Amino acid sequence: MPVRTDKGMDLSALAPWISRQVETLLAQRGHAWLLQGPSGLGQLELADALVRTWLCDAPTPQGACGQCVSCHAIDVHTHADLAVLMPETVMIERGWPLSEKAQADIDDKKRKPSREIRVESMRGVIEFAQRTSGRGRGKAVLVYPAERMNQVTANALLKTLEEPPGDVRFVLASDAAHLLLPTIRSRCLTHVMVWPEHAEAMAWLTGNGLSEQDAQTMLHAAGGRPAAALAATTAAASNAKSWKLLPKAMVKGDVGALADVPLPEAIARLQKLCHDVIAMQVGASPRFFAAADLPTRPLAISALTRWWGQLVQSARSADHPLNAGLAAESLVSSAREALNSKN
Ligand SMILES: [Zn+2]
Repeated sequence: MPVRTDKGMDLSALAPWISRQVETLLAQRGHAWLLQGPSGLGQLELADALVRTWLCDAPTPQGACGQCVSCHAIDVHTHADLAVLMPETVMIERGWPLSEKAQADIDDKKRKPSREIRVESMRGVIEFAQRTSGRGRGKAVLVYPAERMNQVTANALLKTLEEPPGDVRFVLASDAAHLLLPTIRSRCLTHVMVWPEHAEAMAWLTGNGLSEQDAQTMLHAAGGRPAAALAATTAAASNAKSWKLLPKAMVKGDVGALADVPLPEAIARLQKLCHDVIAMQVGASPRFFAAADLPTRPLAISALTRWWGQLVQSARSADHPLNAGLAAESLVSSAREALNSKN
């Protein structure tokens, strides 16, 4: 399945229902838009397309050209006249550079990346708004997800929205606009995200590599929101892949294979693995893994039953381990030992 990157989001890659909304919004005047609706309808894609067009050297009523210096600068996240205001976790996930200071603090482990839009970032944006535009096509501020501003940050933005310093335009994208300050909402033109037609959502999902049947199922499960359906499919595929690779990872003692898995879940997975390995050794069929993914060479049954015992014991204290990291390491090392035993 093709993995979507955030770079190079040219117009041809936009879903048709997003393109239609770009056209509708461009036909209206407005220096501050609030795009709202449930997640998975493409708020960020629409916001991105809008700021691109505002800054583009050769815009059309359909959107940005995708070819000019400005469009390329946005592709590589270095446009001097575009400020994005996102939580640091979202910036990192989407490959946007953090401020030097923020990056240094995180590198030095002084603090973790913030899940909120920090007031320091907002201050940076206020300074940005007061500067003269570098390329002479005005400036743009993209805020996403706008509901992740706290009270202080939101108030700072409000001031700028109330007295915009000249040539700066704003687009706020939100999955939960009801959480925004009413004063912020009232300062923006609101656009409620349009839902795609069923057929176009299906076409978009199959175009992104899903089979007709998977697209149908996932779209239904996501309540008709195509981006949410695609995200769930990608997550499921990556889970399926890591499940398939778990036995080999444990033979190698690869702790990374269980990173980010909560301890009780890690133990449950290892119990399933241990069960199946023992089954294979005694000539029974595995229940949780494909036989082809499991070790087939003879192992010491005594080592496997000892491993099983350790897992049962770990399961008893899984909810309150003294140190989850150490616990995970010791689980993986027991697994490796059992899986490398010799009969
Ligand atoms: Zn352009």
